[in-house]
Amino acid sequence: MIVTLHAGAPVATTDAIVAAARAAGCDSRTFDDGHGGTVVGIVGTVSVSEYPGISSVLEKHRPYMLASREGRPYAPTVVKVGGVRIGGGRPVVIGGPCVIEGREALLEAALATKAAGADILRGGAFKPRTSPYAFQGLGEEGLQYLAEAREATGLPVVTEAMEPDHIPLVAHYADMIQIGARNMANFPLLRRVGQANTPVLLKRGFSATIEEWLMSAEYILAHGNPDVVLCERGIRGFDTTTRFTLDLTAVPLVKELSHLPIIVDPSHGTGRRSLVARMALAGLAAGADGLIIEAHPDPDSAQCDAAQTITPAELASIIESGRILHAALLGGTGENEREHVSSSVTLHA
Ligand code: PEP
Ligand code: MN
Repeated sequence: MIVTLHAGAPVATTDAIVAAARAAGCDSRTFDDGHGGTVVGIVGTVSVSEYPGISSVLEKHRPYMLASREGRPYAPTVVKVGGVRIGGGRPVVIGGPCVIEGREALLEAALATKAAGADILRGGAFKPRTSPYAFQGLGEEGLQYLAEAREATGLPVVTEAMEPDHIPLVAHYADMIQIGARNMANFPLLRRVGQANTPVLLKRGFSATIEEWLMSAEYILAHGNPDVVLCERGIRGFDTTTRFTLDLTAVPLVKELSHLPIIVDPSHGTGRRSLVARMALAGLAAGADGLIIEAHPDPDSAQCDAAQTITPAELASIIESGRILHAALLGGTGENEREHVSSSVTLHA
């Protein structure tokens, strides 16, 4: 059940509800509603009618009670990555190569990504490759180059972690940990990243329903990490003309269902560089809080995902068009919502 308390509700009420839940053998979490109030999510049902300061009690709600808008209907969450805020405002752009190819190559790509106007740098050190014979990434050496690229550009960095035991290592070097599409339902990995203090970019599995995806976000939130950004990166359909089918319906739908920010990946979503710019802008028009785009100084020579990789100049052009589009869309309802910088989820297991 989800119990919401008014902004001025006595702290003792929260404590008493948590204690009542515990006495009934129910796990609970408290989090703020972004509006000055407190929300208590309880796994089960307990009687709370005797407590003062309660504004609503939902016994029926979606299974992802922390990720759902039901407990926090007023304010979208804003996730801070380094100094960059994702959600509730100007769309952000994450750009860079699919994979970190080497020190010089990454520094060159990073400087070009920065010059193009991107907010955050991407680059894979641990790569989930379909073939065991394909380049698997440089591992920790790549993470070191990524940290150097952050120093050189001032851009926060995001990179993927594929194994639970790698989470502390990746968190040591990166500002944001990516959970890739192939690991969206890797529950031990989700649990571990839920215990980290680093923001998470959670990509949608390419056969995952929106509810399954939000339940994966719930795993991360339920383990104590409130900083989750969702990423629509295409799902598998019947048509192999494109690599995946970018499901842009997910963007406004997720915004109806959840307070978490959502960004769009038109690179993996299409697999074709000629389609990236249009689908990037379509993602923004659908209401995305940002984009993640693969860019490389020499796309044809990119070691991974060359067919969908664009040049820094093309990235700059998308960013410029995106700015104009966002300005044109301003005044839409989503822009007037109060923002809520995610702070904490408290576990009462
Ligand atoms: C990537 O971002 O390079 C990547 C592998 O993405 P996905 O997990 O969406 O395939
Ligand atoms: Mn890629």
